[in-house]
Amino acid sequence: MQELTHYINGAHVKGTSGRFADVFNPATGEVQAQVPLASEAEMAHAVEVAAQAQPAWAAVNPQRRARVLMKFVDLLNRDMQKLAEALSREHGKTVPDAKGDVQRGLEVVEYCIGAPHLLKGEYTDSAGPGIDMYSMRQALGVTAGITPFNFPAMIPMWMFAPAIACGNAFILKPSERDPSVPLMLAELMEEAGLPKGILQVVNGDKVSVDAILHNDTIQSVGFVGSTPIAEYIYATGCANGKRVQCFGGAKNHMIIMPDADMDQAADALVGAGYGAAGERCMAISVAVPVGDETADRLIEKLVPRIEALKVGPYTAGTDVDYGPVVTAAAKANIERLVQTGIDQGATLVVDGRNFNLQGYEDGFFVGPHLFDNVTKDMDIYKHEIFGPVLSTVRAQSYEEALGLAMDHEYGNGTAIFTRDGDAARDFANRVNVGMVGINVPIPVPLAYHTFGGWKKSVFGDLNQHGPDAFKFYTRTKTVTSRWPSGIKEGGEFSIPVME
Ligand code: NAD
Repeated sequence: MQELTHYINGAHVKGTSGRFADVFNPATGEVQAQVPLASEAEMAHAVEVAAQAQPAWAAVNPQRRARVLMKFVDLLNRDMQKLAEALSREHGKTVPDAKGDVQRGLEVVEYCIGAPHLLKGEYTDSAGPGIDMYSMRQALGVTAGITPFNFPAMIPMWMFAPAIACGNAFILKPSERDPSVPLMLAELMEEAGLPKGILQVVNGDKVSVDAILHNDTIQSVGFVGSTPIAEYIYATGCANGKRVQCFGGAKNHMIIMPDADMDQAADALVGAGYGAAGERCMAISVAVPVGDETADRLIEKLVPRIEALKVGPYTAGTDVDYGPVVTAAAKANIERLVQTGIDQGATLVVDGRNFNLQGYEDGFFVGPHLFDNVTKDMDIYKHEIFGPVLSTVRAQSYEEALGLAMDHEYGNGTAIFTRDGDAARDFANRVNVGMVGINVPIPVPLAYHTFGGWKKSVFGDLNQHGPDAFKFYTRTKTVTSRWPSGIKEGGEFSIPVME
């Protein structure tokens, strides 16, 4: 049994708390490693190391800091296959999808190579007689991030790349379900030239999260995960005076208008609903066809596509569309919610229950499910299922469809499929959701834009990556300067105003 470590001060360090969590291979159901769960003292030690190392890193000029990231991009490309396989082994997603996980993180690292430009301040020459005014963006100090299991490469990179580019030290508390890739990323950053102590990985659970939230040295906390934990971390972190941004759960609706290309819509729904076993915060989990005729045509197109989905282990290569879900508990929760859908009167059009894969009977596989005639009051509509389960809610009009997306408590992503520019434009304008796709099912913005939902999908005001990340990981300082020649007339006793 492999015993995983923390990564502190440039070295793999064994856990000393005596507490461990099992890391599974979701395809086989076997425990393949044990991850140490840090104590408060272990976290405090990592923070001390970070605090020692950070001032020197902040003093390195931004171009040199960016060069470390440039080299890191090379190393990610060099090790892409190795990283993707390690990721698939612990998460369960297919290797091509795991490469996408690494790639979408890598693209944010590329964006952060622009740090010298992105960190430039503002300058006003002659703001008053002999007075210049300028602002600078300075690092916060020691920052921390808590990440979910579903993107174990991408989301850590979305956090640590901008944090480190800005001159901070960063402590990553990854998901205890799939901690190996985050450890590998820390090693690669050091190989790229990052000084010891600037990126550390402290594995753990609630104990280490609370140790972050109550540590006075840590200046900011980034979190991505489920909404109840996001709310808790936001409230606790803010109460302790930290800068906090938390990204939570989702229930993403896709509206299908009667004029949509139905083949395109069905293909999009299958990819966005079942890719990565539905374990994406931008997965489409609710299809909203407008009109019964649209709904009937859509279901007719969906059923054969869903029935043809190939579910299997990542080791089967490109012959698999999606893999197992992450744990037996996740599988049980999905099965429980599916049963509530049946009990509460939804029509189970494609029944993925009793899915069985020969040779992988102990794996956490869940067959694909499609529900029709789902209504707003049902549990499968209200709650995030985070599995390969697509719910169809029939709307009788565009306004009703828009209202569904608007009224749902989550507001991460949404999409509309139509050939009508006016409907698409109206939808993008009015919907109270953070990321909108027009004939694009998973509208995840690229690295140079920002990522973030609305409503209960987010707590805090700045988005992830793009220009917002450089604001989140820096503080603005504004300097007003006047040199002695400007004060030769003597002191001023009333507040200066611009007349
Ligand atoms: P999770 O909330 O269970 O765990 C996320 C992190 O919080 C992990 O590091 C975990 O160790 C920690 N944690 C868990 N329980 C805790 C507790 N009681 N106190 C303190 N910390 C705790 O989420 P998950 O299952 O790993 O990830 C799936 C969730 O993440 C889904 O809800 C998904 O929608 C969401 N997600 C959101 C986004 C986004 O950008 N909005 C992106 C990816 C995933």
